Amino acid sequence: MRTVICPGSFDPVTLGHVDIVTRAAAMFDHVIVAVFVNLSKKPSFTMDERITLLQKALIGVKNIEVVGVNGLLAEYAKERDACAVVKGLRAVSDFEYEFQMSLTNKKLNPELETVFLTSRAEYMYLSSSIVKQVAMLDGDITNFVPQCIHGEIKERLGSKK
Ligand code: ADP
Repeated sequence: MRTVICPGSFDPVTLGHVDIVTRAAAMFDHVIVAVFVNLSKKPSFTMDERITLLQKALIGVKNIEVVGVNGLLAEYAKERDACAVVKGLRAVSDFEYEFQMSLTNKKLNPELETVFLTSRAEYMYLSSSIVKQVAMLDGDITNFVPQCIHGEIKERLGSKK
């Protein structure tokens, strides 16, 4: 049984995240979607909200679970016996940071591999912060997040001009 972890802040989940998790679920037996506390970012959604939105967005994908993690990815991967971390790469701009994270995780947990999936062309521009900016200005987020969570995101962030 091959378990992998898709880590992130998911603040909130976007169609780009859903694409990466779905593709990871097709390649591996079990995918743990892990919502991490990123100390360098101030989230707009609470941990519980981010988990609930992810669960709704991924409802059709059977071999996944969504968890919140307080701590190090390398340690969590050991605990869960995960063989790899799966990450999406959008553009050259993601590369340097992801390379650094991957090498750090390898130092902390030498058995842990990092697998990069290239973003689909239509989601290359898409990020959680873009979704937040558009939603806060009451823009149309139809092309950015799954339909089933539009309402919640707009309600939470809309009209904050
Ligand atoms: P972080 O706070 O760690 O940057 P994010 O929640 O922004 O986490 O992203 C989690 C993962 O999803 C990262 O690997 C990121 O590269 C990937 N990702 C984010 N947006 C997209 C997208 N539009 N297409 C492909 N991968 C994406």
